Amino acid sequence: MKLVVMKFGGTSVGSIDKINNVANIVEKELNDKKLIVVLSAMSGVTNKMQEYIDEIESNEIIENDLILTSGEAVSVGLLSAILKKRNIKSIPLLGWQIPIITDSNYQKAKILNIDKNRIDQFLKNYDVIVVAGFQGVNIDGNITSLGRGGSDTTAVAVAAAVDADRCDIYTDVDGVYTTDPNLEPKAKKINKLAFEEMLEMSSTGAKVLHTRSVELAMKNNLTLQVLSSITKQSGTFVVDENKLIEKEIVSGVSYSNNESKLTLSGIADKPGISATIFGLLANNNINVDMIVQNTSQDGITANITFTVPNSEIHNAKKLIEENKKLIDFKSIETDTNISKISVIGMGMMSQSGVAKKMFTTLADNSINILAISTSEIKISVLIDKKFTKIAVKSLHDAYNLGSK
Ligand code: ASP
Ligand code: MG
Repeated sequence: MKLVVMKFGGTSVGSIDKINNVANIVEKELNDKKLIVVLSAMSGVTNKMQEYIDEIESNEIIENDLILTSGEAVSVGLLSAILKKRNIKSIPLLGWQIPIITDSNYQKAKILNIDKNRIDQFLKNYDVIVVAGFQGVNIDGNITSLGRGGSDTTAVAVAAAVDADRCDIYTDVDGVYTTDPNLEPKAKKINKLAFEEMLEMSSTGAKVLHTRSVELAMKNNLTLQVLSSITKQSGTFVVDENKLIEKEIVSGVSYSNNESKLTLSGIADKPGISATIFGLLANNNINVDMIVQNTSQDGITANITFTVPNSEIHNAKKLIEENKKLIDFKSIETDTNISKISVIGMGMMSQSGVAKKMFTTLADNSINILAISTSEIKISVLIDKKFTKIAVKSLHDAYNLGSK
């Protein structure tokens, strides 16, 4: 018997009407199969829970994750009850009931194990099991959350554990686009893209899928489909690169305003300085993304610029200032008004001139590049935030990504 995992995001279960619509999709899909349906909380609920936590200024990690993951109990309860009314054999399950075992990194827990035998048992007795996304249980029996947007990761982890035939991620857009359609109306839906491309897109700002869910799908070679719960047309398939007939040189342009820039001037230009700075940041769990170093005119001192998540910029600055003696720099400067623009494509690996086109396009629009970083299939640049829209639009045009 076929087994399909379907995941519905917050907007797809945002009201009773919408949950009824999900029940319709589930009922239609069920036919000759067994289904595992993973749900997010109704849209806005997790934000509301976070507001409550902030309001009482709670630093209680156990309580916070319990509160944060509570919305998923409501959505799985509602859907399962509606399915039962339609005489579908369904059961609602929270993370701990399966169980989905995680580590103890509250708020960003990683899934360690999912009990396949227990899921098989449930599937013997029920046709649909409705699973709460975003939550698990740790070794102490406490509830943990997987990080915001984490129910995608629950869906992929469950699909991999039971070796599902398919994993469909239903959302409020009908697929992955060449860029954000809100910013560039000419953006086109992509039919198929490689795991690697999706991974780069997710981690550089495209908000369609939780980054860890893509990593997990890639590791397990599990094809994902991203599609809309409203239009019901086929969506975007995220597949192994061998399944791509043609590799696009550039398949998308993404942007992110989530990073801030820090510049240290007048540091000694000698071995070991970078190791000291970045060692310090790493030891304090501050993730560094882009790095640029240049030697100053005198050849004795250098400047280093790097980016960290917005949420870490104050910590990073404080840490470096506290260690001024060790690093020995003249001045420190931070900038939060920046944007990272990335172009991504598998075909880049075998094609030259992609970077040149990016830099020329930005230059033609008088946009100054503050930092650059690359991978085999991605080029990212840091620019002034106010140029985000024009940069994205002109690059989208330059690589001919728009609808014809
Ligand atoms: N409800 C959680 C959140 O809002 C998980 C998810 O939606 O994937 O982050
Ligand atoms: Mg989501």
